[in-house]
Amino acid sequence: MTQDRKEVLFALQAIVGEAHATNDPSIVCSYAWNAGVGSMPGPKFLKNWPIAVVMPDTTEQVAAIIKCCVARNLRFRPLSSGNGGTYLSAAEDVVVLDLCRMNRLVRLDAANQMAVIEPYLTAGRLQAEAMKVGLNCHIVGAGPSHSPLASATSFLGIGITGASTGANFRNILGVEWVTPTGDIVRLGALGGEEDWFSEEGPGPGLRGMLRGVIGANGGLGVFTRIGYKLYPWAGAPSLTLTGTSPMRGMALEPNMRLFLPVWDTVEQMRDATFRLNRAGVAYALLRMPPNHIGWTLTASNGEYASRREAGDLPECTRAENRFAWQILTIGHSAGETAYQEKTVRHIVADTGGRMMALPQGDGEVLLRSLVTSLYVSRVFRGAGSGGTSFGVMDTFNLLPDVIRASESLMEKERVPGRNFAADGIEGCWVWPTESRQLWTENILASRAGTVAGVAAGWKGFLRHLNLVDHNPRLGFMAFMAGPLIELFGPRYSNVPTWMRRIKRRLDPPGLADSTVHIGIKEMPLVKWWPTLQKIAFSRAGAPALHLVCLLLGVASRKEKLPQRK
Ligand SMILES: Cc1cc2nc3c(=O)[nH]c(=O)nc-3n(C[C@H](O)[C@H](O)[C@H](O)COP(=O)(O)OP(=O)(O)OC[C@H]3O[C@@H](n4cnc5c(N)ncnc54)[C@H](O)[C@@H]3O)c2cc1C
Repeated sequence: MTQDRKEVLFALQAIVGEAHATNDPSIVCSYAWNAGVGSMPGPKFLKNWPIAVVMPDTTEQVAAIIKCCVARNLRFRPLSSGNGGTYLSAAEDVVVLDLCRMNRLVRLDAANQMAVIEPYLTAGRLQAEAMKVGLNCHIVGAGPSHSPLASATSFLGIGITGASTGANFRNILGVEWVTPTGDIVRLGALGGEEDWFSEEGPGPGLRGMLRGVIGANGGLGVFTRIGYKLYPWAGAPSLTLTGTSPMRGMALEPNMRLFLPVWDTVEQMRDATFRLNRAGVAYALLRMPPNHIGWTLTASNGEYASRREAGDLPECTRAENRFAWQILTIGHSAGETAYQEKTVRHIVADTGGRMMALPQGDGEVLLRSLVTSLYVSRVFRGAGSGGTSFGVMDTFNLLPDVIRASESLMEKERVPGRNFAADGIEGCWVWPTESRQLWTENILASRAGTVAGVAAGWKGFLRHLNLVDHNPRLGFMAFMAGPLIELFGPRYSNVPTWMRRIKRRLDPPGLADSTVHIGIKEMPLVKWWPTLQKIAFSRAGAPALHLVCLLLGVASRKEKLPQRK
């Protein structure tokens, strides 16, 4: 690296004050720590540590920092809550903008069902404030500590209450954005009338330009404020917690009902879902694999194993009851509550389903997880988990194919002694976004901490990509970040071509770090990929694929702190 670290630090401190920029290795190294989702293959500690970390407080400071980087030919990368790990950079000449001081709920506009928020306003904080005025926000699967702004502008944006709270790529309204050249741009109604209410007028879809497939992950500059949709909340302004940690739950309010219907076949479940969606009575409609429900309802893996062996877990945790929903309804009145209950019971009975019973304490734990999206920490406890997805924003007609595809991916590795959780048949989490479109996460719960386990996770992930690439009945895969979208571009309407045009136009020197977006130049591997793909997923290529996955397993186990001067 040719940069004078001290000079860079002083320049950043001149913008934000001495206390808010540092190149102290003991702090900078924590921005090279790879926490999980979105992680790059390799050890937990990346060898690339940022040149400096800076914490701006205003949009103007963000713009000044970017200009400072551009003048020095330095790359830059923002992070909001840092929940996902995708803010990690693959190079050392990167200034990380940690936006944690920009944590304001600028406005809560109850009449217009929206909020104006900054990057480090967390979903949990927003939800608590919104509920006080009868509103609620979408919370993605990462849980309440993530940033709705980062999610809406820059990375994915889907979560289990999609039935009633949409998806974050549709929840974004006005945007304040600092471009890769350091210019401040205001989009939406905000551009004309000093307001945040309306997303886009006639003309090209600006959200699509800014997000590409799943969000630019910092590759198109920094978003500093957004207008963000909120949704009606019929529950109490604050909810009563029950139980003791870690088995905290929430008391079911008189206007809430939690149902666990189950069907014999996936086709029956699909048919019921069309009707449930159309009736629009569910606050949340979530399908989890039964063993994941079991992990949620127990405090430790040990408790899960012993209760499972003793046959002491509720019926919703048994594999034979896997074509099932968790349905939460919340009525604005006693009459609406009764109507919702009657509707759900009628549809379930009419489609050949039945209701499963659940002890009160377990119901309270599921309720809390549904409302706050707290499942992930519990479910990822069971094993090291890799997430893939099927049928993204597609019709529920795909559901049976999607479930069978997940079964086929897990089949060989899910027997005792192998590398996937042995008590699950497939790993599909399913919900309807906007009470209409299918979304499926396919969680491959593989053995963490062993080379073979990590390798099996990688192989499952790569085989999943290949399956989706060849079978339209599996819909799209969601996590098409960075290099992946380049490799699989043809299946996605060649969107990388457009993403690259936008990137080149907005960021000619390519300084907005694109580790998880698209670079200025096409990756050389793209040309060879169709041939490599054919070989890797053929019978003859299977040993080579296995070897590559083992090497990835070895790389991720080799934990060593890099030598620093
Ligand atoms: C266990 C786990 C489960 C998850 N499940 C889901 C899920 O179900 N659905 C889902 O949508 N996501 C999920 N995620 C991903 C992720 O946590 C969220 O999408 C993400 O948290 C967004 O908020 P954040 O504050 O964590 O973003 P960060 O981690 O801070 O950043 C995410 C990306 O956006 C960029 N970025 C951050 N802030 C800005 C900004 N202000 N301007 C421009 N770019 C920015 C970063 O550089 C990075 O590339 C999961 C993550 C984990 C760890």
